Amino acid sequence: MLLPNPVPVQFLTHDLLEKKGIELAIKRLNLIHPKVSGNKFFKLKYNLEKAKSERKSKILTFGGAFSNHIYATAEATNAENLESIGIIRGERTESLNATLSHASELGMNLHFIDRKSYRNKTEPEFLARLKEKFGDFYLIPEGGTNELAIEGTKEILIEEDKEFSHICSSIGTGGTFAGLYASISENQKLLGFSSLKGEFIQKEITDLIEKYQLTSKESYEILTNYHFGGYAKYKQELIDFIWWFYESFGIVLDPIYTGKMAFGIWDLIKKNHFAKGSKILMIHSGGLQGNTGFTERTGISLPSISE
Ligand SMILES: *Cc1c(COP(=O)(O)O)cnc(C)c1O
Repeated sequence: MLLPNPVPVQFLTHDLLEKKGIELAIKRLNLIHPKVSGNKFFKLKYNLEKAKSERKSKILTFGGAFSNHIYATAEATNAENLESIGIIRGERTESLNATLSHASELGMNLHFIDRKSYRNKTEPEFLARLKEKFGDFYLIPEGGTNELAIEGTKEILIEEDKEFSHICSSIGTGGTFAGLYASISENQKLLGFSSLKGEFIQKEITDLIEKYQLTSKESYEILTNYHFGGYAKYKQELIDFIWWFYESFGIVLDPIYTGKMAFGIWDLIKKNHFAKGSKILMIHSGGLQGNTGFTERTGISLPSISE
């Protein structure tokens, strides 16, 4: 069983916060486990328990070449002595990037499929063919969001977090946000920062809430204007912000999720979105493994120390 470390909640100090009368803290889920970082720890834990209880020895999942989910699944299955198969979107490159070479070293069996076929990843016939090829497996969908993942992400917030008036999280598939939604306390407002371009995410979230019959004590808001061009897209302003954040607070962010969220929170603070006296908790959902690959892909250097 994956065991969590205690997660520090660090209060940030800055003139702007003082001036606006706002408290801002960061919950360092990137430190939850030595190997399985961030929200992926919560999304995987009950899935791996289920796989073991069903006596399945193999986990199969999907992801892009720089995927935090692939990386975390490789780490978690390795730690739990399970086999793993990673179905990777796109052609195999001659040398594997940092994410995939690490996953491969941990024993994940990487299988590359072209982008067009990859779109069939939820089709029963496609999955049946994978079963023929790899034998029986426990399936975790791309991004890792399913019912048990949400059971896990409901545990991100703990009793001590009740003191906050606002909980902020980044959004990819929405599994983390859905779990937070189901677990926020009275008088807490949940803010989600979508890493993807488009309003479709609003419906994705309401669909998850409906599908898994989630209820909440409070409402939520999704910000869709901090995507910087779309998933895995960036602008110099975002890179500069990540460096500024690191130099100001000593905390590393990633450019795919947490950097966009933190940029959004800081921008909203500047724009007086939060009333005086607000206590904001931002969730650092991890993802720092991706910084190496981001630099490989773009040539742009990022802070890379994880503490
Ligand atoms: C996967 C991931 C997310 C998105 O989580 P969802 O549950 O898919 O919304 C956010 N932040 C980081 C760092 C991630 O790795």
